[in-house]
Parts: sequence; C-alpha cells; structure tokens
Amino acid sequence: MDPMHIMKFGGSSVADAGLIRSVADIVISRTESDKRPPVVVVSAMKGVTDTLITAAAAAESGDHSYKSAIIELKHKHHEAVKALITDNTIGVSLLIEVDSILDELGEILHGVELVRECSLRTNDLISGFGERISSLLIAAHITDRGVKAEAVDAREIIRTDDDHGQAAVDFDITGNLIRKRLADRDSVSVVTGFIASTAEGVSTTLGRNGSDYTASILGTALDAESVEIWTDVDGILTADPRIVPDAWVIKEISFQEAMELSFFGAEVIHPYTLVPVIEKGLPVFIKNTLNPSAPGTRIARTAAPKDRPITGIASIDNVSMITIEGGGMVGMPGIASRIFASVAGSGTNIIMISQASSEHSICPVCRHEEARKAADGLSKDLSDAISSRMIRSIKLTDGLEIIAVIGENMRGQVGLSGKLFSALGDSDVNILAIAQGSTELNISFVIESKHKSEAIIAIHRAFIG
Ligand code: ASP
Ligand code: MG
Repeated sequence: MDPMHIMKFGGSSVADAGLIRSVADIVISRTESDKRPPVVVVSAMKGVTDTLITAAAAAESGDHSYKSAIIELKHKHHEAVKALITDNTIGVSLLIEVDSILDELGEILHGVELVRECSLRTNDLISGFGERISSLLIAAHITDRGVKAEAVDAREIIRTDDDHGQAAVDFDITGNLIRKRLADRDSVSVVTGFIASTAEGVSTTLGRNGSDYTASILGTALDAESVEIWTDVDGILTADPRIVPDAWVIKEISFQEAMELSFFGAEVIHPYTLVPVIEKGLPVFIKNTLNPSAPGTRIARTAAPKDRPITGIASIDNVSMITIEGGGMVGMPGIASRIFASVAGSGTNIIMISQASSEHSICPVCRHEEARKAADGLSKDLSDAISSRMIRSIKLTDGLEIIAVIGENMRGQVGLSGKLFSALGDSDVNILAIAQGSTELNISFVIESKHKSEAIIAIHRAFIG
C-alpha cells in the first residue's frame, strides 16, 4: 500500500483564519506529494477548550457569564468561516452547522445551570465542542480550496472506558473502527482530536492536550508512514528557551528519551503520545506550522549517536517533597510499600522518589496541590509506626522544583553524576534529593524553585553548550 501520513495540528496552529490557511497550505501540498491523502487531526481553536471548561464551571455555579462565552464562541467561529470560505453554498451550510452545534452547547450549559451540577461526564461532553467545530471548519476550508476533504468525529472511531477526564482507550476495538472508517479514503480526513466515546456512545476525552494522542492512535491503527505533530516551535529543544536563550532544536531523539522529556514537563508532546507508536516503531516528527521548511525533531526507535552525554533538560514546577524519616525504618521490610499504598490511597501521583541509602528517609515528591492530602494520609496510615517511634517525622516541604537531565548516552558513563553535581555546586545550587532511573536514562533531582534558572543554565552550559 502507498504510504500515508498523519498530520496533527494543535490549537496554536489553528488559532485564527490566517493560521488555518497555513495549515491548509501544508496539508494540500502533502496531497500533491503523496498518493494517499493524509489523515489530519485537529485541536480546537486556541483558547476554546479553556473557554468551554470555564463556561461549564460558571453554569454549575449559576453564574450567567457562560452565556457570553457562547456568544464569544459564535463570534470567533463565524469570523473564521467568513474569512476562510469563499463558496457561498459551503459557507451557508457550515454556518448552519456551527450554529446548531453551539445551540446544543447552550442547551447543555443551561441544563448544568438548572441542576447546578457538572459531572466529569458532562464536562467531557462540553469540553469537546471546540474540536467538533474546528474539524468542520478546516475540512470545509480545504474543500473550498478545491481539495476533497471530510470532517470525521473521533467519537465514532475511538472507543474508551468511562473514566471521564482521562479515559483509557480500547485499542482492539478502536483499531478496527478506525480502519473500517478511514482506510482507503480518497479525500483528506479531518478528525477531531481529544474526544472519543464509550461503547454506549457517551462522549469522553483523552485528557487535556490529548489530540497528540489521537494522532498516534490513528497512525498506529492505519500503519501510517509517520505521525507529524505540527505546533508553534521548531521541535524539541535541549531546554526551555525562556530560561536558556541559546537552547537548540534536537534533530533526532529516541522514543525513550522523548518520553522521559515529556514526562518531565517538556511541553511539546502529550506524554501518552508515544505509547501506541513504540511497538510498531512508527516515527513521530515535531514540526512548526509557522516555519514548515525547518526539519523539526524526529522521534524514533533509534537516534543518531550524539557527541554529548545529555540530550535535554526538563523540569517540573511547583512540587512538594514529603520526607518520612526515622531510624526504625532501617531494614524494615514492607515500609516502602505501605508508604506507596498510602500515597496512592489519597489519590496522589508520585512524580519521583528518593531514598537515602542509609534507609533513614524515604522522600516521595508530588505536585504541590496534592501534597497536603498525601502527607495527612501518611500521618494517619502510619500512625502505628509513628507512635512506636519507628518513624520520627513526616515533613512536607513546598516551593520545590524537579529538574531532570535525560540522555541515552548517560548509560554507563562513570563520573557523570559527579560532574553534574559539581556543576550545580559551582553555581551554589543546593540539591535536596536525587533519583536516577534504573535505565540510567535520566537523573532527576529536587531543588528550591528559586534556583531553577541557575541550575538549568549551569547544566546546559556544562553538558550541552
Ligand atoms: N483542545 C484540547 C485541549 O486544549 C486538546 C488538545 O488541544 O490537544 O486540551
Ligand atoms: Mg499540544
């Protein structure tokens, strides 16, 4: 079969009519170079998902501002239709469709206002409206320019469970539905990112920024040549350019490295995106809609060897560390598992764990918003160990930052962490905890937030240049 590409355009790539025109340029030139038309995945226009979620919260609390949000959305999309559609018939029927979708939204929000309740399930339904409209708009614009295109609602083809807010995909059923609907199309399919549905047809979402994940699910099911994530930066950078102005685009990076970087806060791709493509070895490209000729970043099974030990630096802001300390924990079997069970029981996600080798302390690190309830849960669940003095204290420290340095080349490099920590020491950055992944692909450490920039700049200077 001839090769086919998946092209995903995020909210910043479809933020207004001018950008949507650039998106169509890129898509149309792909239809000219490939025998099979691409499958395009689109996000809502920039800001729309946030507006929808805010409107839902307003309606729930009886605040009428949700009504002006609907008017604002109507205005925004009408403007785009006017600017993007020249054919009167296409334009009129598109406006009718947009209005009927927004009327439906209005009715749902009114319902939320009446019952003063917006469940996660209703929130999923509401937050997906932006993609439903943007896919229609972009498909219509491509058609208007003389290239066959069709909008596809992903709720017909992506099947999930009912874990609203971040539903899990049933890959077998989804794969079959996608192939049935999208294989062998002779037109460009413009698929809604982010949204899906349960077996009962209830709308779900794949989590915020989930459109990247939609693209990789489609790419895997359709055996695409590659998945392209079109965004507003030239690719994955060695560090956050707001901190390191001379950070540069990484040309090639392995799946594992990219997963670690996205997990540790590099914002270019949704952390789940690579999960479905890894098995098939399907390459993913990060490309810039505003600068389409730039080569971007290629993420694949193997990347060309690099002449530096560290591929990139990422960080997570606003974390807290819980220090569980006590001489009685030394050699106490099962203590780690009790700690993890307690933290999990409070619904908290542990981002990193560090254990002093004396076993004198175990320090889970989690997001600031979740830390208080995790620490309270630990004090309760471990009260027996606290009263028997096995555990001396459970302490919570806020205002911290996790910095992660990532690179395949770190494997087996003797002395690397020494060099890393002396670079930080030279910049007077105090390290509170350290963890190294057993794959030796990442070293992460905790510092006070106020040292974030110095730390990242020092590591970038010492190892990446
Ligand atoms: N529109 C959704 C969001 O803002 C999904 C996405 O853009 O990927 O989270
Ligand atoms: Mg995104």
